[in-house]
Amino acid sequence: MIIDQVGVVGGGLMGTGIARVCALAGADVVICEADAARAESARARTESSLRRAVAAGKIADADCAGALSRLRFTASLEDLADRELVVEAIVEDERAKADLFAALDKVVSAPTAVLASNTSSISITKIAAATTRPERVVGLHFFNPVPALRLVELIPTLHTAAETADRIERFAAEDLGKLVIRSQDRAGFVVNALLTPYLLSAVRMLEAGFASAEDIDRGMVEGCAHPIGPLSLADFVGLDILLAASTSMYEEFRDPGFAPPPLLLRMVESGFLGEKTGRGFFSYS
Ligand code: NAD
Repeated sequence: MIIDQVGVVGGGLMGTGIARVCALAGADVVICEADAARAESARARTESSLRRAVAAGKIADADCAGALSRLRFTASLEDLADRELVVEAIVEDERAKADLFAALDKVVSAPTAVLASNTSSISITKIAAATTRPERVVGLHFFNPVPALRLVELIPTLHTAAETADRIERFAAEDLGKLVIRSQDRAGFVVNALLTPYLLSAVRMLEAGFASAEDIDRGMVEGCAHPIGPLSLADFVGLDILLAASTSMYEEFRDPGFAPPPLLLRMVESGFLGEKTGRGFFSYS
C-alpha cells in the first residue's frame, strides 16, 4: 500500500465511514474520539455498519473480519503518534479544527506523516497555519456515505508540497479505489460550490410559492433524471450543514447565489434540520 498506517480523528458519520473504507483496503486504522464513551459508540457503529454490509452481500465475511481486526478505537491522541496519515473528521468548527491540528502537529511524529482535513467549507490554509508543517497538510474531502460514493476531492494549499499531494492522491486512488479530483482551496471546493446554489434556488422557489416541495423535487427527478430532488437532498445533507456551507461560501465569494434564504434560516432556528430531526422540507418518521 502507499499508506498503511492511518489515523482518523472524529468517529461520527464521516470518520467511521473513512475508517471503514481504509480498513477494508488493508490499512491499520486508529480512530480517536473525544472521550471513551464516544470511542465505544464509534466502535459499535462501525462494527454494525460492516456487518450490515456483509448481510447485504456488499462485502465478504472474511473481509469484514479482516477490517475489524485492523480497526482500533481510542480517546487518546497519543495513539496516533506513529501514523503516516491522519484524517480529521471532527465538528465543522474552525477553532476546534485549528486546536486539533496544533495538537496533532506535536503528536504525529513520522517525518513524512501527512495531516488531512475532511472539512466541507473551512479554509485548509487556515487549518494548516496551526501546524509547523503546512507543506504536509491537505484537504481530503470524502462524500457521504463514504463506502458508497467514489469521489474524493483533494485540496492542496499554496504551501502543500507537490510530493505530499501526489502521495495522498495515489493513496486515495490506488489504495482506497476512490476517484480523485483536485480543487484549489476555495470555500465549497468543486462539488459544494456547484451544488449549493442549486439547492438554495430550490428553497427560494418554494419560499416564493412558485411550486410545491413535492413538485420541485419531482421536476428534477423526472425531468432531469436526478436520483433525488433538491429539497430531499437538502434534508439528507442536513439544513444546518447547508446553512453553514452557504454562509461560508457567501462570505468568501459575496455572490448572492450563495446567500442563505430566510426560509432556510427560520427552519434551522426552529430545529427542523431534515432527516436527522424527522422534519425538514419533508417529514420523516
Ligand atoms: P459528526 O457530528 O457525525 O461527527 C463528528 C465527531 O467528531 C463526533 O463523533 C464528535 O464526538 C467527534 N469530535 C468532536 N471533537 C473531537 C475531538 N477534539 N477529538 C476527537 N473527536 C472529536 O460529523 P460528520 O458529519 O461526520 O462531519 C465531520 C466532518 O466532515 C465535518 O468537518 C463536516 O463538515 C465534514 N463532512 C461532512 C459530510 C456530511 O455529509 N456529513 C460530508 C463531507 C464532509
